[in-house]
Amino acid sequence: MCYHDGRMETIASFLTRCNQRAVYRQGEAATRGAGRGTAVARLLTPEDIDPEGQEEARAFARLRHRLLLLETVLGGAFAVLVLASGLSYRLSEWLGALSRRPYLLVGGYALIFMGVYGLVMAPVAYYDGFSLPHRYGLSTQSRRAWLVDQAKAALLGWALGLVVVEVVYYLLRVMPEVWWVVAGVFLLGLSVALTSVAPVVLVPLFYRLTPLGDEELVARLTRLAERAEASIQGVFTIDLSSKSRAANAMLMGLGKTRRMVLGDTLYDDFTADEIEVILAHELGHHVGHDIWWGLTFESLVTLGGLYAAHQVLDWGVEVMGLGGLDDVAGLPLLALVMGAFMAVTMPLGNAFSRWREGLADEYALRLTGRPQAFVSVMVRLANQNLADVDPERWVELLLHSHPAIGKRMGRGERFGGGDRSAGGPLAGEKGHWVA
Ligand SMILES: [Zn+2]
Repeated sequence: MCYHDGRMETIASFLTRCNQRAVYRQGEAATRGAGRGTAVARLLTPEDIDPEGQEEARAFARLRHRLLLLETVLGGAFAVLVLASGLSYRLSEWLGALSRRPYLLVGGYALIFMGVYGLVMAPVAYYDGFSLPHRYGLSTQSRRAWLVDQAKAALLGWALGLVVVEVVYYLLRVMPEVWWVVAGVFLLGLSVALTSVAPVVLVPLFYRLTPLGDEELVARLTRLAERAEASIQGVFTIDLSSKSRAANAMLMGLGKTRRMVLGDTLYDDFTADEIEVILAHELGHHVGHDIWWGLTFESLVTLGGLYAAHQVLDWGVEVMGLGGLDDVAGLPLLALVMGAFMAVTMPLGNAFSRWREGLADEYALRLTGRPQAFVSVMVRLANQNLADVDPERWVELLLHSHPAIGKRMGRGERFGGGDRSAGGPLAGEKGHWVA
């Protein structure tokens, strides 16, 4: 499922994931370009779920799970190999001979490490990011455009990675006992800053954001935001169709940069009632302070990972012959521990996210009072996004950031059937969600 608040799933993963996930399926596909309010006027019911599409969705999901496993194993093996072969020590010695300045040594090492890692992973990234989405009819992007996006993302990733590595090694040098605490605080600050500038700096690198011209819909969504007591700096469209078939929407940014953003695919293919339900779900994240919940959770996990890295680097000094915690030859070890920690805690993060997503769904139902439109949204997204309506339980538990579509439809139907007993606030009852 591919709509969310732009924080629980970070902007970067949103950009790639939505590229890959969304699909434009036959049947519904005929509505594309037909103009709003014509072919998309009818609300869909669970009977409209495309059975052939579901078969494809399961095959696609299986492939993606194997790729995830491959990427994890390959990434880990790369770090282990660089360490065990002694390459890491030789590289840091060689760079040390060029300059004794620690920040140059660290920066040079980090750039080479990230560059070689990127090259090693490139074939998998190509298959996962380009071949597979095209094979399943998910992507609208040419190879060239995809490569340009990858180059931009790599440059951005390297620049950010370089800053993080330099700061972490500076802290390792000057405060070897508590570096991991300060690094955790720094990373939290960086996350807040990135969330804040995303709609004005990061997203425009990949997409065009333009104010939505449909005055009627803007007025309707603005009223909705007012009812949720959310201050929004305008309603925008984003040209998702330039890369994928995904229908998506989100609240983006923080404070003065906070805005409602609608995928052009969503605007073209969904009824106004459905769009309202989706944005109400996004407002549910806002009312539930999910950005801050997400940041807090992420920070705790990061802090845990940094502490584990602290212990393992200590071990590396004693057993593996690192020259000290701040020896840059230990960078692959640091990356390995952080990566492993993130992988192990991912199911926890997903469980947390599914809980918040469920609350946002509940909020959307209560704010709009449109259970039929809610169910219709789920059906439309299942058909368009090659999403398995009823995934195996272990897959959902480990990998899904949202409840399975089947469960979400069930929630809508129960609400429509008059079951309002699940609790949760009505519009404007701020704070209720935090408790
Ligand atoms: Zn959501």
